[in-house]
Amino acid sequence: MPRFVEVLIDSIPLADPKPFTYRVPPEYEDAVAMGTAVVVPFGGRRKVAGFVVACHDQDPGVPLKDLLGVLGDMAVPPALYDLFDWISQTTMSSFAQVWTTAVPRGALARKSQAKMQWVARAIAPPEGLSARQQQMFDVLVLAGGCLTVAELARRAGSSAGVAQTLAKRGAISLAQERIWRAPSLPDAQHILPFALNVEQAAAVEAIAQGEAGSSFLLYGVTGSGKTEVYLQAIAKTLSEGKSAIMLVPEIALTPQTISRFRGRFGDRLALMHSTLSDGERFDEWQRLRDGDAQVAVGARSAIFAPLPNLGLIILDEEHEGSYKQDSSPRYHARAVAMRRAELEGAKVILGSATPSVESFYRANLGELRRLDLTGRVSGRPLPPVELVDMREELKAGNRKIFSRSLLAALSEHLDRGEQVILLMNRRGYASFVLCRSCGEAVTCPSCSVSLTYHKDHDLLRCHMCNFAGPNPKRCPGCQSPFIKYFGAGTQQVAEAAQVLLPGARILRLDRDTTTRKDSHRRILEAFGKGEADVLIGTQMVAKGLDMPRVSLVGVVAADVALNLPDFRAAERTFQLITQVAGRAGRGDIPGRVIVQTYAPEHPSLQFAKHHDYDGFYAREVSDREALRYPPFQRLVNVVFSAETQAPAQSAAELAAGMLREYDGLTVLGPAESAIAQIRGRFRVQILLKTEDPDLARLALREALKPGRIPRTSGLRVAVDVDPVTIL
Ligand code: ADP
Ligand code: ZN
Ligand code: ZN
Repeated sequence: MPRFVEVLIDSIPLADPKPFTYRVPPEYEDAVAMGTAVVVPFGGRRKVAGFVVACHDQDPGVPLKDLLGVLGDMAVPPALYDLFDWISQTTMSSFAQVWTTAVPRGALARKSQAKMQWVARAIAPPEGLSARQQQMFDVLVLAGGCLTVAELARRAGSSAGVAQTLAKRGAISLAQERIWRAPSLPDAQHILPFALNVEQAAAVEAIAQGEAGSSFLLYGVTGSGKTEVYLQAIAKTLSEGKSAIMLVPEIALTPQTISRFRGRFGDRLALMHSTLSDGERFDEWQRLRDGDAQVAVGARSAIFAPLPNLGLIILDEEHEGSYKQDSSPRYHARAVAMRRAELEGAKVILGSATPSVESFYRANLGELRRLDLTGRVSGRPLPPVELVDMREELKAGNRKIFSRSLLAALSEHLDRGEQVILLMNRRGYASFVLCRSCGEAVTCPSCSVSLTYHKDHDLLRCHMCNFAGPNPKRCPGCQSPFIKYFGAGTQQVAEAAQVLLPGARILRLDRDTTTRKDSHRRILEAFGKGEADVLIGTQMVAKGLDMPRVSLVGVVAADVALNLPDFRAAERTFQLITQVAGRAGRGDIPGRVIVQTYAPEHPSLQFAKHHDYDGFYAREVSDREALRYPPFQRLVNVVFSAETQAPAQSAAELAAGMLREYDGLTVLGPAESAIAQIRGRFRVQILLKTEDPDLARLALREALKPGRIPRTSGLRVAVDVDPVTIL
């Protein structure tokens, strides 16, 4: 029974969060333990929420305040505390930041506390019930013997008073019971486990035989049946009495994925997803923690699922950038998975048709055991990929969005009643608005990016900060009326497709069409049921979809990501094209892929055309080695931002000077970030390259110590260890 607790304040962002000590009044002694969520007084008369991070009996001998109340038990399995500690060390963020990322957000709010209701349960009918009482009792028995009192009264067309009487007479019991708020899930898709093909069977077997703590790279082409390997590996884990975590990228968390998993694991599955309400998230979290569910499925943060006795962690599409959190703590779910598995003796499977260069490199070093699925299931071929040179289209006088071959293919496949997916990795109507008199593009007032024209609302929008402004009729700079729209987005592609293919039923899938809860699901379900012929969208259409009637995939503009000043641009383009191509020809109808580009000779596109991951990898890894980029050196990106340029620049220069003192660190910059301004803040960055990330962290802790760099003008410093993007 602790007399004192250390509490991390949850609700106040502190620059350097450290726990505060409180006294535990006797009435709370039994209720308080590591992980308990509590209310404490803080500064003056404020009451704030926090977590107990330590309990003890040592009176510090200074005046202390009393803890005011207990909000709930948010303790996690003890191994997770070590994991939090490791993340806070390696990502250079605070323990409090990690903790609040790892437990469900809003969990401390009252509305997400356990929901209780009266519940009536049938016992036995005594003699001499009145007709109304007997009728209510029968309703309860017919319903399986258990209903909430409100529901029982409603169904019996009677009142709660009758239920009270029945309880007094011993016919039923009434008790407060916890109600689990289950997220509304798509229907379970009951597919029996497939008879595995030779490669799948070998993979499942190798994973089953693997030692605790071992990791695997499941490298399987699109449509090779990786999901079935995951499902059977999980089933095996459960049969050993252990639990499993299945991570998918946010956009791949489609109804299709969920129904497959639910079909196999039913109520043993809990979903961790950003679209759940706070209450649902809290309940799913508790079901996992208390052993009521043993399989957690979710995006990045599901890596923190509070499962005891963890046996297996799977990252599907392990190459996806969304596994990295882009705010503090800047953790990568893959790195966290490896560490968690090590701490808890679990196995890890990284799965992908286009593994990240880092993971493939580690597999070649033998740190990950490679399991290959070289062909599609049932011997289906990978679809042929054609590259269309859009410069030739221009020469031939075609200035339209669609090349002649894509247009011909569209009509042909639609005439045969097949389905088509079109990828346009940019939302909106036009990606920039340019003045033809002065040549200026219209940019966001607070970010250094051009504004995107959204035709549906006739306004210009910033995709960085969401600023929206009117669509100017004249150039804001020189008042010229000659304004032109460039760079098609999904809206324009959909509009053009509708004009060229008048009969076609078209659906659009991008961030603008999926703002409402469930809209993502509804669009994909409609397409899956054949209620539309063409699905046009951003990278959302490239991931995880398994639609057997899709025979044609078109990439409208493959160059969108190719020219970004980021060392992963080539890798991302190769992955995106390969993944979207993988959506074609997954059923009995053979597939075909058409990629439009202004740079058909680009190696990423050439390798994607030939389904040649190995070739792509060999070239990319030698480029990375020559430039000392990951996996050959580690990177740390440090962004200094302020409301004006000068303080950011001078702080970065001071820090760079200190960092250059260290042998073993290569300091690039300071330089203006590629996106020099975001939300009104000017950004200057330093990129560190090193073989020793611990040295980089040590040097940064020194350089960023209070007092070293003037923290004027709202200067902020964001440290990103192992960044996935350095824009
Ligand atoms: P991937 O994730 O590798 O792209 P999926 O797991 O989606 O591929 O599998 C592609 C299709 O093949 C799915 O429809 C799946 O149900 C089916 N499938 C998987 N394994 C088998 C098997 N052994 N026999 C028959 N069909 C299978
Ligand atoms: Zn102008
Ligand atoms: Zn903006």
